[in-house]
Amino acid sequence: MDLIVQKFGGTSLSDENSRRHVLRHIVRENEAGSRLVVVVSAMGRSGEPYATDSLLELIRTNGNALPAREKDLLLSCGELISATLLCSILQAEGIPSVVLTGGQAGIITDNRFGSARITEIKTERIHKLISDGFVVIVTGFQGMTPDGEMTTLGRGGSDTSATALGAALNADIVDIYTDVDGILTADPRWVSDARPLSTVSYEEICNMAQNGAKVIHPRAVEIAMKASIPVRVRSTFSEGEGTLVTNAHALRSQGIWFDKTVTGLAHVRGVTQLGVTNNNGPSDVQLRVFRAMATHGISVDFINVMPSGVVYTVSETDTSLAMELLQGLGFEPNVRRGCAKVSVIGGGMNGEPGVMAVIVEALTNSGIPILQSADSNTTIWVLLSEEDLAEALQALHTAFGLHLTPN
Ligand code: ASP
Ligand code: MG
Repeated sequence: MDLIVQKFGGTSLSDENSRRHVLRHIVRENEAGSRLVVVVSAMGRSGEPYATDSLLELIRTNGNALPAREKDLLLSCGELISATLLCSILQAEGIPSVVLTGGQAGIITDNRFGSARITEIKTERIHKLISDGFVVIVTGFQGMTPDGEMTTLGRGGSDTSATALGAALNADIVDIYTDVDGILTADPRWVSDARPLSTVSYEEICNMAQNGAKVIHPRAVEIAMKASIPVRVRSTFSEGEGTLVTNAHALRSQGIWFDKTVTGLAHVRGVTQLGVTNNNGPSDVQLRVFRAMATHGISVDFINVMPSGVVYTVSETDTSLAMELLQGLGFEPNVRRGCAKVSVIGGGMNGEPGVMAVIVEALTNSGIPILQSADSNTTIWVLLSEEDLAEALQALHTAFGLHLTPN
């Protein structure tokens, strides 16, 4: 008998109609004889009554004056509401189900309130309940410290709850239900002919998620990857199979392999490029710059260290602070706001010559300057002006034939 973890996101639970679709997926797997653990996120989006952002909004008028521990108690309410509501839907259909909070489900975390890490999952209780025939509904995004304090796992953390439970229970698959048809070759709001992928490797989806694709939390993928638990990202609102995420080895052994070098594009906006020139010959300019950024918790990217100085990027939100710090150190930084980072991702590019040439050619033909670039064995990043983003994404998507259905 299969053991399936199903995770339903906020938009999948937001109203009667979407919850009917959720029910349909639970009923289908239940009738097929699978044992089910269902992880839910808080229902709806910002502005809707029980969404996580709406709960946060409640304390904003008091200047967010709530200690981290108590804030986690507040945040945990959203998932509890959606879980119990789903339980009542299942009970009304005659499907025996039980709700467990993260802690009751055995998810033990450290005590970093607001961004707790899972340290252990005690699975006895869930195992007992599923073998007794219950559908076990677990509130996503939360856990409990060893001394019983409620914690949350950081925003978007219910994906992590799902794959961590999948790994601990050795599930056959973790199905992440969302409002899109799986993982697409690019963001369809920017690339009109973006297409759902049938398979991607963990590495690829991790790269996509870390580089701005908002389809699954990167930490959730890392956990699934470590445990080699297959994940499927699929739509609540259709019967489509979505995108299967697994390891490249498993894909290859099933005869599925990429004859393509590039799988997809991701992008991040609101990036600022900073340059600091070393005018006085060799000195510790690099060290002083990056140490200042690090002590103030500014995350840096696109780092190029040269004898003549350093060039790197920070997010728009960190720009003023970064500038102040650099000026405080006596530097006169060059600043270019309004940049975007485009990631060209593909497990198949490793060792393949010519990928960068295609990128440069596509962008040059569109008259788009590349401000900086970097690469790893599965990703090439280019920094561009945000004004060029739409055209750049479309040009790269076409140049790599991502709009074409693979054979
Ligand atoms: N409800 C939480 C959030 O909005 C967790 C999640 O949705 O995954 O961040
Ligand atoms: Mg969510």
